[in-house]
Amino acid sequence: MGQTRFTPDLELNELSPDEAFATLGNEIRLDIIRVLWRAGATYEYDDGSDAVETVPYSELQTEIDIDDNGKFNYHLSKLAPHFVRRTDDGYRLSSAGKQIARTVIAVSGTGRLDFSRELDESCPLCGAAVAVTYEDQWLRVRCTECYGLFGDQAPAGTLFLTNYPAAGLTTRDSEQALATGLYRCALDITYLMYGICRECAGQISSSVTVCDVHKVKNGQPCDTCGTPFPVWADMKCDTCGFAKRLPVEMFATGLVLATELTGNPELDIDSPAVDEAIELLQNSVETDVSTKPLRVSLSIEVDTTVFTLTLDDEMNIVEFDREPRTDTVVS
Ligand SMILES: [Zn+2]
Ligand SMILES: [Zn+2]
Ligand SMILES: [Zn+2]
Repeated sequence: MGQTRFTPDLELNELSPDEAFATLGNEIRLDIIRVLWRAGATYEYDDGSDAVETVPYSELQTEIDIDDNGKFNYHLSKLAPHFVRRTDDGYRLSSAGKQIARTVIAVSGTGRLDFSRELDESCPLCGAAVAVTYEDQWLRVRCTECYGLFGDQAPAGTLFLTNYPAAGLTTRDSEQALATGLYRCALDITYLMYGICRECAGQISSSVTVCDVHKVKNGQPCDTCGTPFPVWADMKCDTCGFAKRLPVEMFATGLVLATELTGNPELDIDSPAVDEAIELLQNSVETDVSTKPLRVSLSIEVDTTVFTLTLDDEMNIVEFDREPRTDTVVS
C-alpha cells in the first residue's frame, strides 16, 4: 500500500540535534531562512504541500547578496531538504524551517520595552505592593515585601513566574500579558500532566518529592526544604529538556484552570487574574499525602465545582473527578 506523504519523492533521513545545530550555525543559511520566511509570511496557511509560491533561485541569491554561485549553492544545499524545499519554481521553507523562523520571531522583541511596573493588586500573602517585571524572556510578578510563594526555588518575592516570548508583549499591556502568561502556563502544565512536551511532543518523565519534616512558621519557608510547600514535582521532557519544578498544588490548579477555561468557551482568558489564581491556590486547595504507595490527593474548589485529583509518585493521574459543591447545590 502506498504511503501518503506531504512531499512525495523526497528521501528524508533523520537529522540528529548535533547535525541540526551544525547545519543552522551559519549566518548565510540563517539569512536564507529569513528571506524565505519573509516571502512566505504573506500566505495564510501553514501549507504542508509544495503547492505554495516559492522564491526563484536568482531572486533568493540577490536577496542574500552573494555573488559567488558556488558558495551560495553550497549553503543552500546544506539546508535542503530538512529546512528548505526545492521545487520546479524555486525554494520555500519546509515545516521545520518555518518552525525555526517562528522561534526566532517569538524570542525577538521590538527593541526596548519599558514594561516593569507596580500592579493595582496587593500581595495575596502579605498585602504589600506587587510589581510585574519582564526580563530575559521571563514574566514575573513579585511581592515587594515577603519571600513569595517559592522559597529558595525562585528569586525572592516571586508570586508568579513564566517563560514568555518577547514577541507576545508587543501588542499587550502588563495585565493582558499576565493573563496570557497564566493561560499559557496552565496549558503547559496540562500538556505535562498528560505526559506530552509542548515544545517538541516528546515524552515526559516525572517524580515527586515530599518533605517529611515540613514546618512553616511565622510565614517563613521550611528550614529543611527551603520552601512553603512540602510536596514538589519535577516534570521534564526526555527529548528536549523542557521542564518544570513546582509544588503539586500548582500542577493541579494549572490543570483545573486550563480545564475550566477550555471547557467554557464563553469565559474570557483574562479571568482569573494572577492574584485570583494565587488566592485559589492559597485558600481553595486541600492536599493529602499518603505513603506506600505514594499518593497525593488534592481537592480544589472553583466557583461551584469541586475537583478531586489523585496523583502517584510519577505524577500519573490516578483519579480525576468533578462534582458540584455540596453547600451550593440548589434542590
Ligand atoms: Zn507579600
Ligand atoms: Zn519542608
Ligand atoms: Zn520536549
